[in-house]
Amino acid sequence: MRTKIAIIGAGPAGLMLAHLLQREGIDAVILESRDRDYIEGRVRAGVLEQTTVNLLERLGLGGRMGREGLIHTGTKLAIDGEIFRIDIQELTGGSTVMVYGQQEVMRDLFDDAAERGIKIIFNAAEVRPREVAGSRPYVTWRENGTERRLDCDFIAGCDGFHGVSRGCIPKTVLKTFERVYPFGWLGILADVPPANHELIYANHERGFALASMRSATRSRYYIQCAVDENLADWPDERFWDEVARRLGPETAAHVVRGPSFEKSIAPLRSSVTEPMRHGKLFLAGDAAHIVPPTGAKGLNLAVADVIFLAEALTDFYQSGSASGIDHYSARALARVWKAERFSWWFTSITHRFPEMDGFARKMQVAELNYMRGSRAAQTMLAENYVGLPLQ
Ligand SMILES: Cc1cc2nc3c(=O)[nH]c(=O)nc-3n(C[C@H](O)[C@H](O)[C@H](O)COP(=O)(O)OP(=O)(O)OC[C@H]3O[C@@H](n4cnc5c(N)ncnc54)[C@H](O)[C@@H]3O)c2cc1C
Repeated sequence: MRTKIAIIGAGPAGLMLAHLLQREGIDAVILESRDRDYIEGRVRAGVLEQTTVNLLERLGLGGRMGREGLIHTGTKLAIDGEIFRIDIQELTGGSTVMVYGQQEVMRDLFDDAAERGIKIIFNAAEVRPREVAGSRPYVTWRENGTERRLDCDFIAGCDGFHGVSRGCIPKTVLKTFERVYPFGWLGILADVPPANHELIYANHERGFALASMRSATRSRYYIQCAVDENLADWPDERFWDEVARRLGPETAAHVVRGPSFEKSIAPLRSSVTEPMRHGKLFLAGDAAHIVPPTGAKGLNLAVADVIFLAEALTDFYQSGSASGIDHYSARALARVWKAERFSWWFTSITHRFPEMDGFARKMQVAELNYMRGSRAAQTMLAENYVGLPLQ
């Protein structure tokens, strides 16, 4: 088999890239190790930046999102139960965010990919990018026990944090910058109306909590927990008691309890790999960087990467210029680092760290109180929250 772009991974980055290339008439094939049901079933991101919303609309994929997604014009912060609101729409000159689950985005992308004939090979085992530093790259994999090969011009490594692509960059070239946080997020999904029509990020003496949602009838709540926390120790009632305590009495009065149908613990990590290109291989999305979920940047960063990559590849095929592909890594990383900073900062002012003493906690409270009273500080949060411009 031969194609122009071999894409490894059918997550948000890989699938979105395939759509962008398809609209430009550039051949691509996606190799994915799992099946569609598995990918669509993964409960992950829920907040889309304005940039991501704009892209889905540009691709003609905004229909269901427009009908079912929830537009948020503001977000809320709480300090020991006291809430204040940040009007992100007013502070950014009109931008908003959209609550629309990653599962829904994936469903829309897969449905449309099937209609447009975008080629996805599911259940591809032992996928390996080959000869990425040479002039004739290719990818091999096993399908029903048979070894297959896909020749291509370029390989897009969109295979997430645990994929194979990043490992193809020699250790002498690859640099990784990382921070692993000493806590995780224990999250639940329940079919109950949300406590508030907007998200509430709560800093509490006992640790961080987040009141979020997927729809007007489905709530997503998180609490900061130990990394080695045991899920079995968290029956629903214990979780509801703890989240209510951390959100504070004003919000707790509106928390509707119900049985959870999903409960999981996610570790928190900041990580960036440089460069995002090596020879004929490009990295995009979680394959190159991870952010803690505070600030909801993971999926949105993956989308921004592939917008840059698709522009560079389109330029290459349409005008013969390699300038875009040569600058892809630097251009993507410039924005990635700003989102890393925002996610790290938002995590650091809202979570309880093990080494925190009284002074450190007072500093957090002072920073949040400063934000409550400062339009300049609120604007910083708002413009990062809706997504920085694609430059
Ligand atoms: C529990 C959790 C909660 C999250 N919450 C949020 C949130 O609230 N907001 C937010 O913005 N982000 C959130 N994220 C992050 C967000 O989900 C990711 O940033 C996003 O999915 C990245 O997309 P991606 O396509 O780069 O990678 P992925 O979604 O990881 O997709 C990679 C794909 O590659 C496939 N793959 C892997 N290895 C191979 C291989 N060897 N061969 C072939 N295929 C392979 C995988 O099966 C997968 O389908 C969360 C993540 C997790 C884990």
